[in-house]
Amino acid sequence: MTLDDIKSAIDNANNIVIFAHEKPDGDAVGSSLAFYIAMKNLGKNVEVIIPHFPETYKFLPCSNEIKIELSLEKYDLAIALDCADMKRLDDPKEIFLKAETRINIDHHTSNVMFGDLNFVNPVSPACAQIITTMFKYYKYDISKEIATCLITGIITDTGGFKYDGVTSETFEIASEFLEKGVNISKIYKDSLSNISRGKFEARKLAANRIEFLENGKITYTYITKKDMEDLKIDQNDLNGIVENGRDVQGVEISIFLYEVDNGFKASLRSNNYVNVSDICLLFNGGGHIKAAGCTLPYSLEEAKERIVAQSKRFLK
Ligand code: 5GP
Ligand code: MN
Repeated sequence: MTLDDIKSAIDNANNIVIFAHEKPDGDAVGSSLAFYIAMKNLGKNVEVIIPHFPETYKFLPCSNEIKIELSLEKYDLAIALDCADMKRLDDPKEIFLKAETRINIDHHTSNVMFGDLNFVNPVSPACAQIITTMFKYYKYDISKEIATCLITGIITDTGGFKYDGVTSETFEIASEFLEKGVNISKIYKDSLSNISRGKFEARKLAANRIEFLENGKITYTYITKKDMEDLKIDQNDLNGIVENGRDVQGVEISIFLYEVDNGFKASLRSNNYVNVSDICLLFNGGGHIKAAGCTLPYSLEEAKERIVAQSKRFLK
């Protein structure tokens, strides 16, 4: 079975490299660091590469050991975490491709099984929850440090245990980790609610711009590069904006666009019945049923028109 094959691949590897998806969130970062620490504990020569590490997660154990450049040209084993396809994988992708064995561990419905070994569970609420289950199956010691990283992934990808992908296992894991001494309340605050002034100003600006379309079933807002410059923030400071739009009564789809080098990145959320991953797949993106994204290589006006037009088709 795949889980046993992955364990053998780990056992047989000396040099291991860990990748996550670009613009990494708490699940990508937490999963990567948990895996990194576990591999170190096994005595492996392991590196984790995250070229743009988000400030918010500096509190995580071993975050200071994350590499922005790799030291080897070829690894025995490359592991991609929380990443649906090669396009989304962070750089340097060629090092991932060159590795002797490639493993893909993920929970996105749109995962395209790009590894030699793929362990993908689309009903798991976080990649970190999958990794927790794996580590238990492998009987790895889940130290307080590893648990801190894993619960950060779970907390952030479940919006603080509130999304409907949460299972009874999620709470069992949280309970076990609390008993290990993990400070869940602090992690919750540090990763979800304790925001910088710049992040707050971005939310304020985006909230002011919210438009209600299709009888209030769609909300739309945006942030440009100029806004980010003015507020001295970057893309990592924009999380939370799209959720604001979704929280309004009567809204089914929340759309948030933010400017990137080649156009606009779209972040979509839904409340009840729309599969936003299907909408984003139309634009070569993907994600989960109720949270997905894609890149729109157009001007703001055209990007808005195209994504709104497709979203409308999914409304009842
Ligand atoms: P967010 O809106 O928070 O950036 O992303 C929501 C979800 O959609 C995340 O699980 C993220 O990994 C996924 N996602 C965002 N953008 C893309 C994209 O361009 N392609 C794919 N395949 N997934 C995406
Ligand atoms: Mn995730």
